[in-house]
Amino acid sequence: LIIGVLAETAEGERRFSVVPDVVKKYQGLGATVVLQKGAGVPAHFADDAFAEVTFADTAAEICAQADVVFCVQPPPAEIIDTMKSGSVLLGMLQPWASAERARQLAERQITSFALELLPRISRAQSMDALSSQGAVAGYECALIAADHSPKFFPMLTYAAGTIRPAKVLVIGCGVAGLQAIATARRIGAMVEAYDVRPDTREQVESLGAKFVDTGVSAAGAGGYARELTDEEKAKQAERLGKAVAQADALITTAAVPGKRAPRIITADMIARMKPGAVVVDMAAETGGNVEGTVAGEKVWINDVLIIGPVNIPSRMPVHASEMYAKNLFNFISPFIKDGALALDWEDEVMAGACLTHAGEVRHAGVKQVLD
Ligand code: NAD
Repeated sequence: LIIGVLAETAEGERRFSVVPDVVKKYQGLGATVVLQKGAGVPAHFADDAFAEVTFADTAAEICAQADVVFCVQPPPAEIIDTMKSGSVLLGMLQPWASAERARQLAERQITSFALELLPRISRAQSMDALSSQGAVAGYECALIAADHSPKFFPMLTYAAGTIRPAKVLVIGCGVAGLQAIATARRIGAMVEAYDVRPDTREQVESLGAKFVDTGVSAAGAGGYARELTDEEKAKQAERLGKAVAQADALITTAAVPGKRAPRIITADMIARMKPGAVVVDMAAETGGNVEGTVAGEKVWINDVLIIGPVNIPSRMPVHASEMYAKNLFNFISPFIKDGALALDWEDEVMAGACLTHAGEVRHAGVKQVLD
């Protein structure tokens, strides 16, 4: 079995799909690992950190020989074109983003697995790249907020008095939001948080934060949130407005899988924020939770700074790569037997993460969106 690992081509992407320890594990299962030369360098893994691997100069050279190809972000069409028919592509393939890419993978008879499609069940937790990368992103968002705030996050007693801790409001309490709450708490802020899924209240409170109750509850399928009705949105906006106005920093992480990010914070709410308040919109890339966010930019609206960071996990490439590499290994290694790949279509996790196989788009939800 030849596992090929591609260099990332997306602008600003510094993560890598393998780290030295994980490569050793693949070798232990009898696989040969081929890396694109220098591909680990942006994540601070030099070529000589990898023992007994083969290096190839180009992605095409890797694709021409690999039975399984790893990536972080989807490779460009011209690289997919060089993959062997019947080979496997595994990564965060952004399955909803491009019907064209899904069609190309199917037509080229590539079996592709998108980790975004992984069923969110207990057994799949160790493979869950959305969770591992979400945790990195949530941590980073809290640090970005603290870094841009003109105030201390912790309470500070000094010779001439005491400074009150900053108030941080986190909206969206999935994996990223909970990590943002935990990080802001560790730096000493007073944290409030809100999510439409009612079971997040207990998780928020267990981190020492206060849950903002808006009376809107919208648990959807598979443990995710569903989209809100217009009436629910209005109710949510009214109750949230007050918490937003009191916050020194607002971190938004709300998402609905496969859909544009819900617009939760209106221009009117921003207008009522304190001077010097900071907003970090983690959903900037998928449309933003905040009116006025520009992906990849910092925007001032009156005296409020709105930051729309993109590809946040890539800011911490060492640990983000280590976590991601382990997710990939936990996903694919059960199907590597005696140095060969033996996929098991009865396995609900594997089958659930499949985007394309045997010439067709397999994932029903993605098919529906793309058709
Ligand atoms: P996500 O990134 O899809 O969404 C982030 C958060 O935004 C979610 O908590 C969601 O409820 C919230 N949200 C959506 N619309 C909102 C709105 N209008 N207002 C406020 N909040 C809104 O979520 P995620 O972090 O990927 O996790 C979602 C769920 O999956 C959670 O229940 C989590 O516990 C579960 N999960 C399960 C596993 C597993 O068992 N393998 C792994 C990870 C996560």
